[in-house]
Amino acid sequence: MEPCGRMGQDVNKLEAEPEPVVSISATRSPGFVSLPVRDAEVGDITIRRALPQAICQLVGAWCFLDHFGPHEIGAGPGLRVGPHPHTGLQTVTWLFDGEVLHRDSLGSIRLIRPGQLNLMTAGQGIAHSEETPEKHSSHLHGLQFWIALPETDRHISPAFDHFAELPGFAAEGLHITVIVGEAASYRSPARVYSPLVGLELRAQQSGQRRIALNPAFEHGLLVVAGKLSADGRRLENSDLHYFGAGRTHIELYNQSPFCAFLFGGKPFGEEILLWWNFVARDSDEMRIAIDDWKSHSARFGEVRGYDGDRLVAPALKGDLHAPSR
Ligand code: MN
Repeated sequence: MEPCGRMGQDVNKLEAEPEPVVSISATRSPGFVSLPVRDAEVGDITIRRALPQAICQLVGAWCFLDHFGPHEIGAGPGLRVGPHPHTGLQTVTWLFDGEVLHRDSLGSIRLIRPGQLNLMTAGQGIAHSEETPEKHSSHLHGLQFWIALPETDRHISPAFDHFAELPGFAAEGLHITVIVGEAASYRSPARVYSPLVGLELRAQQSGQRRIALNPAFEHGLLVVAGKLSADGRRLENSDLHYFGAGRTHIELYNQSPFCAFLFGGKPFGEEILLWWNFVARDSDEMRIAIDDWKSHSARFGEVRGYDGDRLVAPALKGDLHAPSR
């Protein structure tokens, strides 16, 4: 099968010393490929970065995926990511264990717990911080995704939404939570700007399950806990599993309890640049965003109440180019 994209360079650090990353939209190729996830540092925590990948930059508009934990943080500080800006994307935070406190330049302050969704729409620009709250449980485990905004919506005003409950249903012996998009007749209240789906799948009992897919979508599957097979092949928890568009279903099999995250979308069809915390279309936009952050522009505003420094934008050397296909 064809890989779903190519990239120029790698990004290993989210908030410090990032390298330029060039994203190109995915091709439509039915099939199933397992891509190793690499380690990266966020604050003092080592996380696993599942997207972007060397040969798979985007899954629909999902352009970035960090899987953090399970970490034993005890009474320690846990996650501490100081104020930093975003443009051109939405962040999706989903926890399996623990708590994260979000603050942003709109004045939002929101604690998120497992089963809840924090959705931040950066649009033209926003700043936020993320931290383990002072009073916290001893574990931290969750996901953070970025969703690229399409050309038509990428300059919209920023917004922050918290959803304390999301629709869920039982099917095929699974419990399915609809975090983004829809499944069966259940629809997430979260507003996204391109056709997407994001589902948490859980099962307590062993079994064979047939998961219906939208064939217009490409999909990614991350096994969060337990062991799972798809189409008769073991899915390593250390990999991101990519299913090209054109599939009507996945056959899943588990012998023990598992939790997985299935996400997908219509192939994005726009070339994007992803660099530091920005999604943009050219180097000039990146430079303007960096300058606006450095100059404390009203575009990003200020995050109040975080006990620590704001993150420093790295220098952008040269131009970012999307590689030719
Ligand atoms: Mn962020």
